[in-house]
Amino acid sequence: MTSDDAYKENIKKRTHYASQLSKKYIGIEVVVSGWVEDIRDIGKLGFIMLRDVSGLVQTVLVGETLQTARSIPRQSNVIIVGTVQDTKSKNFPVELKVNKVIVLSEASLSLPIDPTGRVESNLDNRLDSRALDLRNPKVQNIFVLRSGILRVIRDFFYEHQFIEVNTPKIIGSASEGGSNLFSFDYFKRKGYLAQSPQLYKEQLVLSLDRVFEIAPYFRAENSHTLRHLNEFQSVDMEAAYLDYTDMMDLIESLIKKILDFSKQSNRIGQENPLFELRTFEELINKPFPRVTYEDCLTQLNEMGEKIEFGEDLSDSSLKKLGEKYDKFFFIIDWPLDLKPFYIHEKYDNPSMSKSFDLQFGYLELVSGGTRQHDVSKLKSRLELQGLSYESFRDHLRVFEWGMPPHSGCGLGLDRLLMVLTGVNNIRETVLYPRDTSRISP
Ligand code: ATP
Ligand code: MG
Repeated sequence: MTSDDAYKENIKKRTHYASQLSKKYIGIEVVVSGWVEDIRDIGKLGFIMLRDVSGLVQTVLVGETLQTARSIPRQSNVIIVGTVQDTKSKNFPVELKVNKVIVLSEASLSLPIDPTGRVESNLDNRLDSRALDLRNPKVQNIFVLRSGILRVIRDFFYEHQFIEVNTPKIIGSASEGGSNLFSFDYFKRKGYLAQSPQLYKEQLVLSLDRVFEIAPYFRAENSHTLRHLNEFQSVDMEAAYLDYTDMMDLIESLIKKILDFSKQSNRIGQENPLFELRTFEELINKPFPRVTYEDCLTQLNEMGEKIEFGEDLSDSSLKKLGEKYDKFFFIIDWPLDLKPFYIHEKYDNPSMSKSFDLQFGYLELVSGGTRQHDVSKLKSRLELQGLSYESFRDHLRVFEWGMPPHSGCGLGLDRLLMVLTGVNNIRETVLYPRDTSRISP
């Protein structure tokens, strides 16, 4: 029977998801649809294990329906009409006695990967067949969680009077200095892909007070690590009248909200709980340590890692620090010279800045700080960094229109997902990752 026949015969559309079937439906005829994960044939009796987005249901076939089922390739998409009945299986509350199987779309007999995960595939092959890879519930869980977290983030910002904005990703000049930008032809001029919404979000606090944006950053960096991509999603925020310490409080409570949510939403009890959240539990009510850059240097020197004052913290230093602070912690008050032109100096020590990074162990998750809102200081900072303030003219004008003091930060969403799910490669947390060697699918 084809899908057309199914509609002609007026087969009802799905009445239940697999995971909804429970003892209260025993004796009732239901319609489920999904894909055939497995077919088991034990002579007179057979089973189709049908999976849909919610989970797995065991269906039992005899006679003619079993005949039909024998020829269905695994992963084919089917509708099953069946009656809910008690089961001897320990893995399911009930099973379906199949009355009819309708194949909507047959899968090829030679699939590029095995989405049940029984035959392991390497990550490259999985990413090449990502749509099929997502039929693996472990993989799917990452993206279900990601979707839920986006919702938590939006709710959080709305609760805190932020307005969601969308700033352009095609820009006419570099936003934070010229490096690391992808450029292309834009109607006889040069266009660039935005490396961050930094300048726009600052401009917007002039009138919108508090803004946030969830959008891609593009970075033309030739990096080959497990935590860098050339396109990634950032949760950016900017707020008038807040200082960087307020911003840290805000981001800390956002992270705690996200942790709470992931703890509840982990599909525990299902066959494949993906991530282990117990280690986070004790974290939830504790404040994240705030360690100054200077203290980091002292501690690193004690660990035998010699860093000159003013140097950036290298990968190996961050790894060492990450062993000591193996959960969430802030590194604050970086030397001003290490920070972009728009970061504010400290009043009591102008060679240092009102800045912070939120780390999870060695992994940087957030960068932020109080912004400079004094236009003359902005100009001299640009000059000091070898940037022509002419090319920032449009931006600097805004600071002459009554710009409030403000602070902000950007949170790497894909990296946060790495922390929550415990995967060590950022590519696992992105549907279609873009890195130096991957631009498709
Ligand atoms: P890193 O030092 O790890 O390269 P960064 O300091 O260059 O990061 P920022 O410009 O501060 O990054 O960007 C804000 C946040 O975006 C970072 O804290 C991080 O979570 C995330 N991020 C930065 N670069 C990347 C990247 N290439 N791939 C994925 N996420 C990234
Ligand atoms: Mg940073």
